[in-house]
Amino acid sequence: MKSSYNLSAKEIVTKISRGESSAEECLSSFFERIDEVESRVHAFITLDRDAALQRAKEIDGKVKRKERLGKLVGVPVAIKDNLCTRDVRTTCSSKMLENFLPPYNAHVVEQLLKEDAIILGKTNMDEFAMGSSTESSYFGTTKNPWNLAYVPGGSSGGSAAAVSARESSIALGSDTGGSVRCPASFCSTVGLKPTYGLVSRFGLIAYANSLEQIGPLARSVDDLALLFEVISGYDQRDSTSIRASTQNYSEFLREDVDGLKIGVPEEFFGEGVDERIVKIVWKGIDCLEKLGASYSEFSLSTVKYALPAYYLIATSEASSNLARYDGLRYGYSSEVGSDDWSTTFSNNRKKGFGAEVRRRILLGTFALSAGYYDQYYLKSLQVRTKIRLEFEKAFKKFDVLAGPTMPILPFKIGEKIDDLLALYMCDILTVLANLVGCPAISIPCGFVDSLPIGMQIMGPMLGESVLFRTAYTFEKCSKFTDYSPKL
Ligand code: GLN
Repeated sequence: MKSSYNLSAKEIVTKISRGESSAEECLSSFFERIDEVESRVHAFITLDRDAALQRAKEIDGKVKRKERLGKLVGVPVAIKDNLCTRDVRTTCSSKMLENFLPPYNAHVVEQLLKEDAIILGKTNMDEFAMGSSTESSYFGTTKNPWNLAYVPGGSSGGSAAAVSARESSIALGSDTGGSVRCPASFCSTVGLKPTYGLVSRFGLIAYANSLEQIGPLARSVDDLALLFEVISGYDQRDSTSIRASTQNYSEFLREDVDGLKIGVPEEFFGEGVDERIVKIVWKGIDCLEKLGASYSEFSLSTVKYALPAYYLIATSEASSNLARYDGLRYGYSSEVGSDDWSTTFSNNRKKGFGAEVRRRILLGTFALSAGYYDQYYLKSLQVRTKIRLEFEKAFKKFDVLAGPTMPILPFKIGEKIDDLLALYMCDILTVLANLVGCPAISIPCGFVDSLPIGMQIMGPMLGESVLFRTAYTFEKCSKFTDYSPKL
């Protein structure tokens, strides 16, 4: 018999609701797995064992009393550490918030609890979600379960590694410029950046508001759709929340891409994209063609402007968002009492933030400063509009766009630490969906030297249904989501 930690979230729900297994048994299986591998993977910053066990017992009581059971009954879930969890430390992987206990739950956390999921703990990430490798965490790097010498991607590296290593059934991340899809690709899990506004950001500690969405990570498209159903939907506490009708996304899981029109932008396979990735992702597109889809290549000429626009907009928003952490209102205080306020603030921020966060605050402050605002920030917004218009045009012709998620293979821990530009460059294909606001999914597509490759499928605004259908069909045929790392 499979251990519970190897079951899909759907299977866990079925077993628990039929009384074939208890939530407590299932949870113990995950904790055994965590005890076995976590010291090597380091996916979590905080594990909340007692609260999880308490909840499992409550859920088992509900099952016994034949009460209404939620859609995720007894499913263990891992939460990125920039999502507020009431009375559970939420650090953003920063010394600045090392001891922050939020007084409330993020909207998505409330939704999970309403549907009877069990929160295992909080996962490691790049500090304040700035990065693509999880190496900038104040709490040390997470390892890639496929090869422990490699990065898991980032910034939601802990969430992807936890799912991939079977330490958690499903997980939540946040995606500002690729932070769900990059680690999903590097760890061979499925990850979705939803349409902007579909998931409430209430309780997400902000990095760059106009770009980010909370997104689900799972081992299969099935489980991903189930989790997405639970977290998406209107919430009045997020002013950008869309009043779209709630959907039963599982209904779109059909093996059917007949007549699907795939656009393949040549820029997605251009300069800087590893040849081995090009080959594997083309194989994936060919596979979809054999199943009934058709594809044409075309040019998306604005792609080359995306990365500079993204880094200017993201850092500008970050510099404003992170201004609140001064050690008095929020965050780490260096407790030097006698200095003037400006020196005190500056000490707190110097010691509380890591180097990458400080660099980005400086960049963003510069881009927003008088005299440079028009040249940098405003220009970036204009570029963003151009990119969005070009994507809108493309989606008039194609149902989805496909290409690699990441231009490079997972890299060794420490390999790019001194090459920041190379690290920024690896976001080139993911930042597009954030600038445009459209949904994008990363799905396992194969391996090179035993390291995972992801294929990215992008859809029009609110086009999650077509993404789920395409990804599901691909998964059933390719079976890459059946593979698991040997740990
Ligand atoms: N790597 C990108 C950055 O550092 C994206 C991060 C994210 O999506 N949170 O900005």
